Amino acid sequence: MIKLEGVNKTFVLGEQPVHALVDINLSVAAGEYLSVMGPSGSGKSTLLNMLGLLDRPDSGEYWLKETATRTLSEVARAQLRSQWIGFVFQAYHLVPRLTGLENIELPMMLAGVPAKERRRLATAAMERLGIADRAQHLPKQLSGGQRQRVALARAIVRKPALLLADEPTGNLDSHSGAEVVKLLEELNGDGITLLVVTHDAALGARARRRIKMVDGAIVEDLQGAGP
Ligand code: ADP
Ligand code: MG
Repeated sequence: MIKLEGVNKTFVLGEQPVHALVDINLSVAAGEYLSVMGPSGSGKSTLLNMLGLLDRPDSGEYWLKETATRTLSEVARAQLRSQWIGFVFQAYHLVPRLTGLENIELPMMLAGVPAKERRRLATAAMERLGIADRAQHLPKQLSGGQRQRVALARAIVRKPALLLADEPTGNLDSHSGAEVVKLLEELNGDGITLLVVTHDAALGARARRRIKMVDGAIVEDLQGAGP
């Protein structure tokens, strides 16, 4: 469902070019569970943003569901993104003045989903993630773990095929982190393709496929049971 071929990405800050992705080749089948690990600055978030169509390769190609995406218009890329991809970030990225329910509805509102349908889907996602009783709470009234579950509900409410998580447990205590991991893995069990960027070796080792990045390159790609 995903194929990167010869993907390069260089950022230029002042005079100094940073080779954030260097000749990345990666194929991922539907339903896989991958972790991406590597030192800070090794290109993990850049890779995730690339897969999420938030960023474009300088060269190479990214196929998502057989569609070559590098030269697509922003509108077409946004459409693919909202159809297929869900994101979860370390810092939740919830809108502070919206309730949990409204945060989950927001992307559907922007996509023009009718109000009733939005409400039904958002409520179902909150129930699925065990936070139905937090629908009317603002983010600041929620614990970190609950915020991340709202963010996760928002990510999956339109049933994406691909779920991209960048350090999803990075701000959580170990108990809340474990709950979020359990939910992510349940979603993968339901068939969603799951890619988790993490610093946490124990979390990274749980994935069936484990990728390691150094200096913008994939230096290891291990399949099968953990070490
Ligand atoms: P990681 O997530 O592994 O810590 P990143 O993918 O965030 O690494 O960053 C890889 C490299 O690219 C780093 O050197 C970072 O400073 C640089 N980088 C990332 N995004 C940008 C940007 N928008 N502009 C300039 N440099 C960037
Ligand atoms: Mg990062």
